[in-house]
Amino acid sequence: MKAVVDQDLCISCGACIDVCPEVFDWNDEEKAHAIVDEVPEGQEDQAREAADGCPTEAIKIS
Ligand code: SF4
Repeated sequence: MKAVVDQDLCISCGACIDVCPEVFDWNDEEKAHAIVDEVPEGQEDQAREAADGCPTEAIKIS
């Protein structure tokens, strides 16, 4: 499973980082990005929750 943040849509609210810090963190542009290539085992539900909770639907899960 992969998670990607669309940098054009992210409004830097921080919700995804609160929900799933194992996968999302801030980048140098102060936007969220995925810090792992593959969502680690056991983090899938949190990653999906982060995607569902993103106010701008910036997170794509595949
Ligand atoms: S929840 Fe969405 S808008 Fe908020 S920081 Fe994460 S990717 Fe950006």
